[in-house]
Amino acid sequence: MITIQNLTKVFRTEEVETAALSGINLEIKKGDFLTIMGPSGCGKSTLLNIIGLLDSANTGSYQLLNQEMIGLKEKGRAAVRKENIGFIFQNFNLIDELSVYDNIELPLLYNNVKSSERKQKIEAIAEKLNISHRLKHFPQQLSGGQQQRVAVARALVNDPKIILADEPTGNLDSKNGNEVMELLTDLHAKGATILMVTHSDYDASFSQKTIHMKDGIIFSERLNQRNVDVFMDTK
Ligand code: ADP
Ligand code: MG
Repeated sequence: MITIQNLTKVFRTEEVETAALSGINLEIKKGDFLTIMGPSGCGKSTLLNIIGLLDSANTGSYQLLNQEMIGLKEKGRAAVRKENIGFIFQNFNLIDELSVYDNIELPLLYNNVKSSERKQKIEAIAEKLNISHRLKHFPQQLSGGQQQRVAVARALVNDPKIILADEPTGNLDSKNGNEVMELLTDLHAKGATILMVTHSDYDASFSQKTIHMKDGIIFSERLNQRNVDVFMDTK
């Protein structure tokens, strides 16, 4: 589904240059559930944002479904993003002025899904995530756990090819965090492809493989399956 080779990203401001990614190689297959871990500032969010087409890399290759993404202009990136990517953020990123229903509807509007189909899809995903009784409420009226469920519903409503989650439990207590992890595990069991950034070893243990980053590179990968506990140095 995704092949990344020698990806680099430098952030330039007038005074400083920050090498956020310094040669990333990564393969993600359909149905994978991978986590990325590593110290703050090592480039995890930058990598996720590039994969999610919210940002672009400087050099290297990023193929999504056999199509090269490097060099695409924002308009092209936006089109591919809307159709293929579901993004879940640490701080939920819901729009406070919109109801739960309207928040979940956004990706469907972006993709010109017709009205009757939108309603049906929103009601189905709300039911699945146990927020049907909250559709008329506004984000601020919900608990953190419910807000993240709404954010997950919005990420999933358009059946994305890949779900990207940047510290999805980072702002949740352990009970709500575990519910979100159960949700992701359940989606994975049903065939979803997931790439998640986390600081939590416990959250990472739900995934198949943990990728460790430092200073803009991937330095090791570890399989998480039960009874398989191998450390493979990739660099
Ligand atoms: P992580 O998610 O692992 O904490 P990030 O990917 O957010 O790390 O950041 C990697 C590096 O790039 C950090 O040094 C950070 O300060 C820098 N960085 C991230 N985004 C920007 C930006 N928009 N402008 C300038 N520097 C940035
Ligand atoms: Mg980050």
